[in-house]
Amino acid sequence: MKIRHGFVSNSSSSSFICAICGDLVEGWNSSYDRDLTCYDCGHEVCGDHPRREATIQEMKDFIAKEGETCEEDEIVECFQELLDDEYEEPAFLCPLCNLDAIPDFLFMNYLLKIFKINEDSMRKEIKARFGNMEALKSFLGK
Ligand SMILES: [Zn+2]
Ligand SMILES: [Zn+2]
Repeated sequence: MKIRHGFVSNSSSSSFICAICGDLVEGWNSSYDRDLTCYDCGHEVCGDHPRREATIQEMKDFIAKEGETCEEDEIVECFQELLDDEYEEPAFLCPLCNLDAIPDFLFMNYLLKIFKINEDSMRKEIKARFGNMEALKSFLGK
């Protein structure tokens, strides 16, 4: 039996949801409609969110861990080259794991907690006060 290759089997669509802003990024054959960064903690974020800056010590540790050696004055370049070789960036640079970026739902949970707000009664209050989404959005100015 002849099987025709190259049509369906080589094409694949994939998409992901940015773990920070929640935007849907759509992809086809491993190219996406915008930049994306994958960290080895499992977080996938769009390229708009900058990764954490590594300290010189962290760069040195990473280089050593990868089994590489490089000159003292070339640490930054070596580090960058190592990162370019990897599909995933190391978790210690992840903006999410380091709380450089906080997704809305966690931010909201934090506010609910520190202001001791009960989510259910807040929902009821919002519904009673505004009645519909348009009124709420106009109050929020969004
Ligand atoms: Zn994003
Ligand atoms: Zn992460």
